[in-house]
This record gives sequence, C-alpha cells and structure tokens, in this order.
Amino acid sequence: MNCTFCRIVRGESPAKVYYQDDDVIVFFDRAPLTPIHLLICPKAHYTDFMDAPIEVHQMLVKTVKRVVTELGEKAKDFRIMINNGPRSGQTVFHLHYHIMAGK
Ligand code: AMP
Ligand code: ZN
Repeated sequence: MNCTFCRIVRGESPAKVYYQDDDVIVFFDRAPLTPIHLLICPKAHYTDFMDAPIEVHQMLVKTVKRVVTELGEKAKDFRIMINNGPRSGQTVFHLHYHIMAGK
C-alpha cells in the first residue's frame, strides 16, 4: 500500500524509531513542533481516528502512557494531538497520535 507510515512499518522508509512491538510503532516526527515530538501508530493501517476500533485506541493510549513514563521528567507535561480528516489538518492518512512535550 502506498502509505507513508505503512512504508515506515515495513522498514522501507527511514524513521527514527523510538519503540516498536508486534502491534505498534513509535517514531520521531520529521518536522518536530516541540523538542519531543513522537508519533504513535498502529502497525495495521487505519485511515484515521474514526476508522479504528476502540481496542486499537486502547492499545495506543497504553503506549502513550508507557512512553511518557519512560521519558520521565522531560515529558511529564505533554500534549496529545489527533487530526481526523483533511479539514482538521491531517496530512498522513494512517492513524497516528502526536505526543508533544518539552515546550
Ligand atoms: P498529521 O498532520 O496529523 O497527519 O501529521 C502528520 C505528521 O507526520 C506531520 O507532523 C509530519 O511532519 C509527519 N511526517 C510525515 N512524514 C513523515 C516521515 N516520513 N517520518 C516522520 N514523520 C513524518
Ligand atoms: Zn498505512
């Protein structure tokens, strides 16, 4: 599938990967808006927030909690952003949560 984040999942496009397991991948945004700007994606392709079942969101929220806990003090205060649809500003149509911290 010609999807930027599916290519990263398959290892066909480079990314600075912070964490991955069978179901989820976490990598640094290539155009960070804050000192720490990570993207949390399910490895399976879902177009956007509304496309994904609740179980997928549950897994992504668990991953957010794990990652910010691991980052410690520097990500103690953080923002989660999810764009759903082109008019919200979504530009990559593979579900992802932004985690932004450090500003
Ligand atoms: P959104 O506007 O919510 O769809 O967010 C897409 C985000 O993905 C933007 O912040 C981009 O900077 C980021 N992005 C796009 N392509 C890549 C890539 N190949 N590696 C890392 N981040 C990317
Ligand atoms: Zn995809």
